[in-house]
Amino acid sequence: MGTVTVVGGGLAGMTAAWTLRGLGLPVRLLEAGQELGGMAGSKVIDGRVEDHGVHIFPAWYRNTLRLLDDLGLRGSLRATQQFHQLLPGEFPVFRTAVTPAADRLLFGYGVLDLLSREYGARDESLHDFLHSRWYLTDAAIADIEHLFVASSAAESPAVSAAGFRGSIAAFARHPGRVMMPRGDLHQWLIEPFRRRLEEDGVEVRTGRELVGVSVDAGRVRSLTLRNTADGATVTEDLTGHVVLAVPHGQLSALGGDVTGSLQPPHGIDELTSRPLGALHIYLRRHLPRLPDEHIRLVGSPHAITLLDIGQAFEGHHRTVLNCVVGRVSLLAGLPQDAAVKILVDELSTYLTDLTWSDIEHVCYQPHFTAPFFAPGPGLDRYRPLSTTTLENLHIAGDFCAAPPGVAGMEGAVRSGLTAAESVRAATRPGLPPVRIDPIGDISPALARTLRRALLPVAAAVRALTRRRRRR
Ligand SMILES: Cc1cc2nc3c(=O)[nH]c(=O)nc-3n(C[C@H](O)[C@H](O)[C@H](O)COP(=O)(O)OP(=O)(O)OC[C@H]3O[C@@H](n4cnc5c(N)ncnc54)[C@H](O)[C@@H]3O)c2cc1C
Repeated sequence: MGTVTVVGGGLAGMTAAWTLRGLGLPVRLLEAGQELGGMAGSKVIDGRVEDHGVHIFPAWYRNTLRLLDDLGLRGSLRATQQFHQLLPGEFPVFRTAVTPAADRLLFGYGVLDLLSREYGARDESLHDFLHSRWYLTDAAIADIEHLFVASSAAESPAVSAAGFRGSIAAFARHPGRVMMPRGDLHQWLIEPFRRRLEEDGVEVRTGRELVGVSVDAGRVRSLTLRNTADGATVTEDLTGHVVLAVPHGQLSALGGDVTGSLQPPHGIDELTSRPLGALHIYLRRHLPRLPDEHIRLVGSPHAITLLDIGQAFEGHHRTVLNCVVGRVSLLAGLPQDAAVKILVDELSTYLTDLTWSDIEHVCYQPHFTAPFFAPGPGLDRYRPLSTTTLENLHIAGDFCAAPPGVAGMEGAVRSGLTAAESVRAATRPGLPPVRIDPIGDISPALARTLRRALLPVAAAVRALTRRRRRR
């Protein structure tokens, strides 16, 4: 049996390679970039190591956290205590909640209402769900919609309500503090992960871009690879299995033989991703009175969240604002300087101590060519299985089929495991299946019972909020 070739060295491909090697298979991992890690990695830009974007790990990321345990890297994460929210003009006062208590209570009732729904194959947008709830206040709706675009780059009409339901149920079933890395993910996760892969005998080759796949008689027969250093291409015959762990857009670009073999066929062309930008601002000084955890700039037009990695990560002496920009697509087409000016001006309406003269260096990565995948309403049915109709082709990536709400790093890691399981089933049927931990759900019937019981409370609180606002 030939070597298994994994193409794409993001978390999905790395997980697939690690798991397959653990099954005793010879594995090589090919990555187009100079580094592994994909969106969870970093690049050297202007001589500095810049991450793709700051990441968080909720307690329900069961497969991701188990992978970190297996790699001996759980200590790379620390628990966060609070999500800080900052309104314009309120610095340095950070809030834990934005809307009044009554609105939050009604939102809690809305969560119960959402959990009581059985979407099955149906779905609706988060926008339609929120705006059809008689008890939700405009303030609560606006707040949750802004939170979503800040974390997923998707406005509420483009967010799956079934997916939101899935992630809320997961949070409820796997309670625990959200974790964040102790430092740059590349240094704390990707680099040690790569070392473990190589120590275990995985052949890792960077600078190798897959540009063509040739298919014949139900099998992938050869791969055409481009050496990104010199542009030379080479076509290699394939005797073993291949796992494609590249983003869905790249998979589509490989042509009909590949997309037609997916289950469902060509479904991948229906998936959409949106850029989630990163802006790293290095200051000349330490900006006092900032917490060392994530901060959301409430209502910010470009949906900015930020972390002062100068405090949160090791190795910095001054403030470094590591910002994620949910509505970076509004800046498409602008020259970089103009986009940065808009974002820094927006930041300084919140961080009123921040001035242009404080800024030593800025790294702006809008990620227009590496968009972020968040499932849209009704689109889960197009997410492909890892097993294809080609005997030796398997798929991984955060966009692959998963329970509603599972995407991001957990989606990527889970898909790496399902792709490894698909290869195992085809090549080593005698071995036990690859372990994939399920994510818990909440019974809709239970949620319905609670919702009915709390209906009078919700109605009373809603009546009070109406009266309060009329006065
Ligand atoms: C700003 C930002 C913040 C984020 N924050 C979070 C967070 O807090 N929590 C969370 O869970 N998720 C977060 N994510 C999403 C998370 O990073 C991704 O879902 C996950 O890393 C995707 O992993 P992947 O392996 O599926 O894909 P990718 O990371 O995209 O990896 C694919 C790899 O394939 C390579 N490749 C592409 N084409 C080819 C080719 N033709 N040949 C060879 N190689 C190729 C790419 O270079 C890349 O390395 C964030 C993303 C962004 C952009």
